[in-house]
Amino acid sequence: MHEMSLAEGVLQLMEEAAVAQGFSRVRTVWLEIGQLAAVQTEALRFCFDAVTRGSIAEGARLEIVDLPGQGWCMKCAATVPISEQFGACPQCGSYQVQATGGTEMRVKELEVE
Ligand SMILES: [Zn+2]
Repeated sequence: MHEMSLAEGVLQLMEEAAVAQGFSRVRTVWLEIGQLAAVQTEALRFCFDAVTRGSIAEGARLEIVDLPGQGWCMKCAATVPISEQFGACPQCGSYQVQATGGTEMRVKELEVE
């Protein structure tokens, strides 16, 4: 389950931001998660609650923003929406599609105090 290390990464990022920006508490975290990032959001919520216990983000609200998957189809020479890595192009059915968006997870915004 890689959600635990993802949650730890988010906590580390928040702690670094707290030092750099001088806040002591995180109230809300907006996380952008790409549709192709293979992140189980329910597992992530569970892990987030576990790793933030006793930290600056204890009890923080986790807002998850879904990012659609996007790929570049070589046959169509166009950007097309895709819902899985190595999926077929919805326009021509070719598998020569390279994922170009929605493969990552990142912290978009923090509400702090
Ligand atoms: Zn295509």
